[in-house]
Amino acid sequence: MRPPSPSSGSAGSSGSTGRPAPAGRTPRPRAGWAKQAGQAEQLGFAGMPERLFVCTPSKLGAYLDCPRRYRYAYLDRPAPQKGPPWAHNSLGASVHTALKNWYALPADRRRPEALGRLLKGTWVREGYRDEEQERAVFTRALGWLESYVGTLEAGEEPLGVERVVAVKTAVLAFNGRADRIDSRPGPNGPELAIVDYKTGRTGLDADDARGSAALALYAYAAERVFRRPCRRVELHHLPTGTVAAHDHTPETLARQVSRAEETARDIVAAERAVADGADPDDAFPTTAGPRCGWCDFRRVCPTGSQVEGREPWAAVDRLTEADPTRS
Ligand code: SF4
Repeated sequence: MRPPSPSSGSAGSSGSTGRPAPAGRTPRPRAGWAKQAGQAEQLGFAGMPERLFVCTPSKLGAYLDCPRRYRYAYLDRPAPQKGPPWAHNSLGASVHTALKNWYALPADRRRPEALGRLLKGTWVREGYRDEEQERAVFTRALGWLESYVGTLEAGEEPLGVERVVAVKTAVLAFNGRADRIDSRPGPNGPELAIVDYKTGRTGLDADDARGSAALALYAYAAERVFRRPCRRVELHHLPTGTVAAHDHTPETLARQVSRAEETARDIVAAERAVADGADPDDAFPTTAGPRCGWCDFRRVCPTGSQVEGREPWAAVDRLTEADPTRS
């Protein structure tokens, strides 16, 4: 999870009225978004097509994880203040950009020796406990990259690197940035594969690849953008050098799209309920769980503020302590 953080006011502190918020309720947001939802509905005429729900995988994922987190991140304005940056997000961004820049090099300059400079050039320093930890993580990440590029076919050019793909359905206007899109030989000609890099501590398996809504939506979109079959989705876990893969069928991709549309309908219904006078806290309830400790909005959330927060560097601490492939 790539989380967010807290606001200047804590849960239960006074809202814009200056009065304390009722226990267990966050201050009512300036729900300009709710007004807009209502206006949009009023502008519609019978028989007019519904406005498409513009989304990315993270937007849909945020709502599925916790409707309240979705509201904090995408609706409340001014947005609640987030907590400090997370080291694991810095690490993920650094490694992703280094790999992107690797592919930007001419093929004959893609040598492992280039990786140190690439990683240094993209290194994000935020969130680490201290320089010692940061240095240890840098060394570990460089090792992952060196091992990983050793598995790549020399001279093989991806079809896209950090490539945005977009598609419209009856409900969604979806767009997302795929880490990599490969073109590979298939039985009836070239086929596409979606590759997603992972840098978290735990390894991943085929169920993770199969169940990933984001990967399925990328595949669905890529197939339409490039007009080539795209059924293969892969999670490349850099810390262990493993690949978790799944081959979708048109039916399984369609199912994932239907689920995404269902989520979009739920979000729109919640926004409309608020526009019609429902309490935003009821329309976008909290979902308590272990993820609260990692949530950017924990300190402003009445549920999250009851949970012990994680240190910004906690995930990379665990990562460097427990890498199963290295001593
Ligand atoms: S702290 Fe937990 S309940 Fe609150 S918004 Fe974040 S994930 Fe949701």
